[in-house]
Amino acid sequence: MAQTFPEYRGKLEYVCQICGNRYPSDELLYTCPNCKGVFLLEDINFNQLRETKGAYWQKIFDSRASTKTYSLRGIFRYYELIAPILEDEDIVHLGEGHTPIVFASPAFQKQIGQKFAFKNEGQNPSASFKDRGMACAFSYLKHLVKTKGYKNILAICASTGDTSASAAMYGAYVGDPIKSVVLLPHGKVTPEQLAQPLGSGAIVLELPGVFDDCMKVVEYLADNYNVALLNSKNSWRILGQESYSFEIAQWFDWDMGGKVLFIPIGNAGNIAAIISGFLKLYELNIIDSLPKIIGVQSSHADPVYRFYSKDKKSRKYSPVPVKPSVAQAAMIGNPVSFPRVKELVEKFESMGGPGSFNVVQVEEQEIIEGMLIANKKGHIACTQGGECLAGLLRAKELGYIEKHEIAILNATAHSLKFLKFQQMYFEDRFDREYEITPKEELKNFPTLLINKEKKEFLTESEFYKNAANNIVNMLKLKKKD
Ligand SMILES: *Cc1c(COP(=O)(O)O)cnc(C)c1O
Ligand SMILES: [Zn+2]
Repeated sequence: MAQTFPEYRGKLEYVCQICGNRYPSDELLYTCPNCKGVFLLEDINFNQLRETKGAYWQKIFDSRASTKTYSLRGIFRYYELIAPILEDEDIVHLGEGHTPIVFASPAFQKQIGQKFAFKNEGQNPSASFKDRGMACAFSYLKHLVKTKGYKNILAICASTGDTSASAAMYGAYVGDPIKSVVLLPHGKVTPEQLAQPLGSGAIVLELPGVFDDCMKVVEYLADNYNVALLNSKNSWRILGQESYSFEIAQWFDWDMGGKVLFIPIGNAGNIAAIISGFLKLYELNIIDSLPKIIGVQSSHADPVYRFYSKDKKSRKYSPVPVKPSVAQAAMIGNPVSFPRVKELVEKFESMGGPGSFNVVQVEEQEIIEGMLIANKKGHIACTQGGECLAGLLRAKELGYIEKHEIAILNATAHSLKFLKFQQMYFEDRFDREYEITPKEELKNFPTLLINKEKKEFLTESEFYKNAANNIVNMLKLKKKD
């Protein structure tokens, strides 16, 4: 049965997370004109949604979970909670969302000593969670083009790799009058992540330096020229990424009791979105308890960990210089969304109680081995997914998670995007700065059964037989009776 497009329309406003000023959402704003603070978008009609009972919202969202109505699939099946100013025809859906929650095998759960699952965000179309936010940002751009009659829009972003892959893909799909430009730190994204925007036909620019340098350049452009910034300063992306929380709640039949989410923190947009998403569900009585949320950072890029590791009175935020990290997508020393996190965490803790939010710090060695160990057990975790597994182990040590609780680890991208680090581990090629010493038992190499020179001297049947015999000897196969 085709679902009808919702009638509800919200009234979204940008709310500055620093000075509290509000601005209407009929223009694309990134930072507060008053104080340069970052925004979150807020629906000032949100109270109207409270008139519908939580249980009824659950029914609505459950019924849309299998709809074939294109504009209500993916992240927009939670239309009323995402961007309820868009019309049916604005919505771009390239298959994002609906990512599976895959529980670790019983043996693996036993090994780790916890019930846990990965949510495979790498199964989004550009192979990372960034597609959730980008679907929303591009739907809003389409809406702007329509309402303002823009003749061309240059959509630009700085990226640690996945934002640009996603932006370029959505840009390529939407096409005229939107054109994509991405700015990458030269040599600091994996070959796969570089190939993605190139393949999507985006203009790909590079700078020597790190992500934070690229970010300053695109910010300067966004402040002074007519370009649409697609970094997570763009609060439309945050709205789309909230769908991660909605999907988790829905998967567990709207029961978040005893669930503990692990989220890698880079620019902190994702964790902000996930907290905000759960707060919305809670405020609408769609869930009756909040999960625990545990952010994870590498000791090589850990400003958010450092902030929350102090007791409340002595907390002070300062950016940190980053060191090379295999969790490259999270290698950020001055997270743009930190002010959002700070505001949202305060609210989250006041509703979820002490211990409902924590940040743990993990080492590079633990991150890469987290990934390798998970993938040896049938998962498709990227290095940031590995970081979450390392975070789970740390949280267990610190008593942040109890034995009976269920951990949901965010495998933020597909393992295939981060093969470079797996290879560096296998071949022992890490620079000293990474502080990673590979272990023999985690390495893996292909075995060549017959070399090329030898092949020349063999007849075709000898070649197959020889190869088979080598396998027999290597694996000590027993002959059939
Ligand atoms: C962007 C990204 C992160 C970090 O998310 P933030 O929103 O920047 O904190 C983590 N993992 C992957 C794969 C990413 O692409
Ligand atoms: Zn402000």
